[in-house]
Amino acid sequence: MTKEELALVIIERLKKEYPDAGCTLDYNQAWKLLVSVRLAAQCTDARVNVVVQDLYRKFPDVDALASASVEEIEEIVKPCGLGHSKARDISACMKILKEEYGGKVPDDFDRLLKLPGVGRKSANLIMGDVFGKPAIVTDTHCIRLVNRMGLVDGIRDPKKVEMILWKLIPREEGSDFCHRLVYHGREVCTARTKPYCDRCVLADVCGKCGVEA
Ligand code: SF4
Repeated sequence: MTKEELALVIIERLKKEYPDAGCTLDYNQAWKLLVSVRLAAQCTDARVNVVVQDLYRKFPDVDALASASVEEIEEIVKPCGLGHSKARDISACMKILKEEYGGKVPDDFDRLLKLPGVGRKSANLIMGDVFGKPAIVTDTHCIRLVNRMGLVDGIRDPKKVEMILWKLIPREEGSDFCHRLVYHGREVCTARTKPYCDRCVLADVCGKCGVEA
């Protein structure tokens, strides 16, 4: 089986297994996802979803958050870790949204990448989830799983993995595929040395099935 064929098999199996997989960060406006993805670095999505409730209670829109001091933001977001740098990026980001984009999140990958604290992973997430555009989100689950499955071979660099996946995954499938990898990575193909291959729907096609990966 070629890698392209393997990718299609995996996509279809994971679709059946996790039909409703979506973003695990809660948001109802684009700018809130921007805030949440910054807070999610080295923090669980579950904790971010709790912390942002306090943040939005005090600063309910882009203008309010852009006017807040870094210290005020840090005080609320510090349970997510890296409080000062996250607060500094969120503050700078909201100021740019307010001053350059009329309070809106730009629907352009390169413009998103220029926002403070926004890397390729976050920009892809926003393009896919907010704007419904093709996206490949190479987070820790994605990188671990696609290596184990045999879609990429021993590559850990997020951008290199992203570039390979763009060639293997049909563009319209990328965003949902990456969400499903997160679900599968949490529930079955976990980060532990020996994942739960015995109950994996990919066991017959996976390159690392049953092997300590
Ligand atoms: S067979 Fe094992 S290593 Fe492969 S995807 Fe499933 S759980 Fe992960």
